[in-house]
Amino acid sequence: MSMNGKEQLIDNHGREISYLRLSVTDRCNLRCSYCMPEEGINFVKRNLLLSFEEMLRISRILAAHGVKKIRITGGEPFVRTDIMDFLKDLVAIEGLEKVSITTNGVLLKKYLAELKNLGIQDINLSMDTFNPETFKKITLRNDFEKVRDTLFALIDNDFNVKVNAVIMEGLNEQDIIPLTRLSINLPVKIRFIEEMPFNGQYRKASKLNWTSAKILDEIRTVFPSIEKFHTLKTSTSENYKIPGAKGLVGLIAAYTRTFCGSCNRIRINATGNLRTCLYGPEVLDIRELLRSGSSDQEIIKEIKKSINSRALDGFEAEKLNIGHEKVNESMSNIGG
Ligand code: SAM
Ligand code: SF4
Repeated sequence: MSMNGKEQLIDNHGREISYLRLSVTDRCNLRCSYCMPEEGINFVKRNLLLSFEEMLRISRILAAHGVKKIRITGGEPFVRTDIMDFLKDLVAIEGLEKVSITTNGVLLKKYLAELKNLGIQDINLSMDTFNPETFKKITLRNDFEKVRDTLFALIDNDFNVKVNAVIMEGLNEQDIIPLTRLSINLPVKIRFIEEMPFNGQYRKASKLNWTSAKILDEIRTVFPSIEKFHTLKTSTSENYKIPGAKGLVGLIAAYTRTFCGSCNRIRINATGNLRTCLYGPEVLDIRELLRSGSSDQEIIKEIKKSINSRALDGFEAEKLNIGHEKVNESMSNIGG
């Protein structure tokens, strides 16, 4: 039990589960090469996606068991129509302290005032480059200006903005320095993410070249005075700051997995499958439970069972996949 009498989900390694990453669609308007092939993935039939009512129900159940933060992700959340109506109901859930969103920003700008009104402040914007040509190469779409305008509009409207950039050999390593430089004059956190092997293609991603350590070395060649900055225990990024800068730089060791020890998060994808580790298999079909008439108590009982057999870290979780690796898995299905 927690202080307010609410039951708190705790995993078999003593970690509180207080954070849900909820993917609201597997569809996307971009084709980032690290996430999806050009032709897209096998998008699931609409009736297999959770409805917003189903997502709200599962969110209420989890919030009643100590989940305090929900991050909306996808696919691209804003390609799903009625997303704003859903968000309105989501922020009203009792016990939920924070709703945040990860987006590619292409369709976001027109919703900023509404998001503000709902109290949604934290936006993670994926932007792997500040160069329009490289943007086109990575995403296979011509939407650089829209995303750049969204970034500036977010900042002008005082959102808490994190920019996510996946660094890929031969594609955007030359963007590490320009992106880092943005943190000097803009109040944003530029987060460099190691590429993970979830690109939706029938091949494993090649060995990682741009590790967090190597990215930091590269940054130090131009900004030798960059220094470590306070990092929350549950954060996936190690934070750094250039002295005098308005913003921060974060390094996310998603591939080398150095942050698992304090992991407080679970994931539900757009078809209602629960993952208790990004690197592990889907462990529970929540859609099936929701659609077969299970009560809230029955649903939370099953979720607790999954949380009670959670892998210690991403390496242990990955071993659980052996024999049925989904090498063609796309991050747009998992939700990032
Ligand atoms: N479409 C939204 C976006 O791009 O922000 C939300 C979904 S996207 C799957 C969530 C995050 O996962 C993005 O920041 C993206 O950069 C990251 N991501 C996708 N594929 C990845 C990969 N193979 N390795 C590392 N990060 C990845
Ligand atoms: Fe779409 Fe986001 Fe995947 Fe890019 S990273 S293809 S924007 S889901």
